Amino acid sequence: MGNQRLFEYVLQNFNNVCDMMDLDSSVRTILSQPKNEIIVHFPVQLDDGTYELFKGYRIQHSNMLGPYKGGIRYHEDVRLDEVKALAMLMTIKCSLVNLPLGGAKGGIKFSPRKYSEEEVDKVTRRFTAALGNNIGPAHDIPAPDMGTNAQTMVKMMDTYMNMCNPDQKHNSRGIVTGKPVDCGGTEGRASATGTGVVMCIEEWAKHRRVDLSKTTYSIQGYGNVGSWAGVALHNHGAKLVAVNDHTGTIVDERGIDSHALRDYVKEHGGVAGYRDLETQDRNTFFSTKVDIMIPAALENQITEIEAKLMDVRLVAEGANGPTTPKGEKVLKKKDTEILPDVLANAGGVIVSYFEWVQNKRSEYWDEDEVNHKLKKKLSKAFWSCVEMTQDYDCDIRTAAYIGSLKRLESSYKLRGIFP
Ligand code: NAD
Repeated sequence: MGNQRLFEYVLQNFNNVCDMMDLDSSVRTILSQPKNEIIVHFPVQLDDGTYELFKGYRIQHSNMLGPYKGGIRYHEDVRLDEVKALAMLMTIKCSLVNLPLGGAKGGIKFSPRKYSEEEVDKVTRRFTAALGNNIGPAHDIPAPDMGTNAQTMVKMMDTYMNMCNPDQKHNSRGIVTGKPVDCGGTEGRASATGTGVVMCIEEWAKHRRVDLSKTTYSIQGYGNVGSWAGVALHNHGAKLVAVNDHTGTIVDERGIDSHALRDYVKEHGGVAGYRDLETQDRNTFFSTKVDIMIPAALENQITEIEAKLMDVRLVAEGANGPTTPKGEKVLKKKDTEILPDVLANAGGVIVSYFEWVQNKRSEYWDEDEVNHKLKKKLSKAFWSCVEMTQDYDCDIRTAAYIGSLKRLESSYKLRGIFP
């Protein structure tokens, strides 16, 4: 299974960096485990009248820099180890891009594709009710992740609001981010993670003097993150030649229309069968030579096996944890650069933060303003990572962890550790 050992892998990166930068040992101890691990079981009545018991998680890793923040995943492989790892990545990500937020993650172990819309809505509402006061707009703020979307978020918000005292209802919109714009969401949130990946690629291209209009790229996962990244890179004139998802792989060296593919996937649920392109196996996807590969599906997809097949100049991690430590070693030997998840996909949480701020201030920012602010934050984070790679003679992932952990360490040192 893809997500096994993810926490071990994230800890491995964390510990290597702690050694390298000599992180304060008490800070290291505290950050090695999440603060809270909440597991709930709740029953939901299905359309046929029977009841099913669901298992949900909310892992709160750190609130040192601000309220816990992180997505909610619906997938049949969701498990404690995975959610702990993803929560820790959120702490590192929020600190890296300098948001006043901590790290959390949640999920329910089920496949929403196998249930009706009404059943999924009931699961969302019962999960929100089961979490109760463990979440809150000034305490822990969920967002979309794999298998969830704006529809899921608005159901969470509505359920939470209905459980609030009347005088608190309208201060509670910020309980989740990634809501539809008509219900307190922000412009630019749906596209933020995918376009943010491409904003990071733009900075990398400036750094390496690469003309993006002459590049080819491939994407694994054509959901929220993958499809927006696909379209944004296409807008630079780059050529999409391979896409893989849970339904199969399509390859077309002449170029795949990223916009048309997005519409197709929305209608058919996956890439298989698109424009009569032959559906190929997963290995064909990884062995297709491209300049840029964007993993935007599950974790642990690039192990040493896939890395050996790859001939890629840059991996821009839209997904969280897509590259295993062994996979990364093989890629390094091939001089493949990696834009790490904590930087490359931080656009999602940055615009979630913008949504939360707008909710708090009862403000509305237009899309240009959101994207301008997003670009500024990501660009700053990218160049601070580049500087760190030079100071520490390291790769960008290590640099990103160092920058992030330095901020957390400084905060602990200034505040002290209670009592
Ligand atoms: P999504 O549910 O919209 O799309 C998931 C995609 O992954 C789909 O195209 C699906 O076909 C594909 N997929 C699922 N199982 C697969 C398999 N076994 N092999 C190949 N492809 C498979 O999810 P999303 O929101 O786009 O999230 C994708 C990744 O990006 C996740 O790792 C998530 O944690 C990360 N991420 C998402 C956000 C966000 O704002 N949504 C923010 C940061 C990071």
